[in-house]
Amino acid sequence: MLRRCAAGLRLAHFLPPAILLISWPAAWLTTRHHELAGILAVLPWLLLLLGAALCCVFQRWQQLLLMAWMMVLETGLMRDVQSMDQPFFPGPAVIADFILATTLWPAICSVFALWSDGRRLLPEVAARALVLGIAILGLKYLHDHPDLALIRQLGQTWWPALHAGWMRLPQLSYPICVGGMILLGLGYLLEPRPRHAVPWLLLPFTLAILPHVFIEPQLLPIFCSLALLSQMAALVQESLELAFRDELTGLPSRRALNERLRQLSRQYCLAIVDIDHFKQCNDRHGHDVGDQVLRMVASRLRQGSRGRTYRQGGEEFVIVLDRQAPEAARVWLEAIREDIADYPMQLRDMASRPAGKHRNLRRPGSSASGRRSLTVTVSIGLAAGHRQSDVAEVLKQADKALYKAKALGRNRVVQA
Ligand code: GH3
Ligand code: MG
Ligand code: MG
Repeated sequence: MLRRCAAGLRLAHFLPPAILLISWPAAWLTTRHHELAGILAVLPWLLLLLGAALCCVFQRWQQLLLMAWMMVLETGLMRDVQSMDQPFFPGPAVIADFILATTLWPAICSVFALWSDGRRLLPEVAARALVLGIAILGLKYLHDHPDLALIRQLGQTWWPALHAGWMRLPQLSYPICVGGMILLGLGYLLEPRPRHAVPWLLLPFTLAILPHVFIEPQLLPIFCSLALLSQMAALVQESLELAFRDELTGLPSRRALNERLRQLSRQYCLAIVDIDHFKQCNDRHGHDVGDQVLRMVASRLRQGSRGRTYRQGGEEFVIVLDRQAPEAARVWLEAIREDIADYPMQLRDMASRPAGKHRNLRRPGSSASGRRSLTVTVSIGLAAGHRQSDVAEVLKQADKALYKAKALGRNRVVQA
């Protein structure tokens, strides 16, 4: 389970939002003494409109909610900062707002980020609008009628021994932020998607920025704009992943393969890998075990990778070995074929037991833990090409070689 989660964790999901959020000092410096500073008042609103439009097109209510919540924080604190009589000396009402923002905002942000999208459009939108409305009205009420007892509790230093000098926020903000990050991290591991990576980064970054906004108010719209941009980047990244990545195996899809085939260099090899007797595997063990087998083969192919593996469709994979001579490619493909044939896959479903014998679908028996394991074999067709050769023709040759491997008894590599 942990291995599967770790395999799903991708740096690419965290990198774009991290770069955007880290760039706040640069954005702040460039707008500080510049006429561009004027645009900052409207920039977050423009980005919110654009983000909302994207969320509506892709039906991503979770992200819409987070964007709106980010905007609530920005608008509320900006109002406070602008209402201050003396810069650098916030009054009690502003301090109360700040304590509310730093403690309640991350908690509500985590709840909104964990509220995943359902299927029914109207109830989804209505429920979110209602919760967002209640949260805004609650904060506004607390602003207009500050509950001093609550604010004192939230702002109190509960554990003085744990309050380090660098901690500029109310002490409660830190455990709330860490708790939120743990929950969001678990949410990401269960469903590794860019949209879950963004709020995980957003919490600590927002809390790191907040102590500075009373000294440099422009930080607020800058940071809010970057946060909205990172949400939008996640939206776009996720749409690209949907188009170019196979959901079941996590491998790049046929569309990505077609793109890659256009950029091959002087010498290359294409290998088509096909699972043997996969239909019987499905028939005997069920479609879920079939999916498990597909994921296992995809992961073995990816782990032993000398080239890039794509899921062409069904139980067929294509490996692109750029700048590789066929002799070396063949040796590596033999190794990967053996690795798959020797890999005992643990069946999660105890009820699914093979009914009879099959040549290429073996049952080594129960493992030490009492769970049954299953092994599968693959056949591989290999063809070599170079700059002048027609890629479609090379792929056809690899396919012919695969047919030959099947005809020769499967579980082998045949070179065209
Ligand atoms: P061969 O050794 O000749 O390749 O035989 P085969 O049974 O592997 O090939 P065949 O083309 O007859 O069957 C492929 C099967 O793959 C049929 C289809 O149900 C199954 N399949 C295709 N895509 C998926 C999938 O995403 N999940 C599962 N579980 N099965 C799939
Ligand atoms: Mg096939
Ligand atoms: Mg097959």
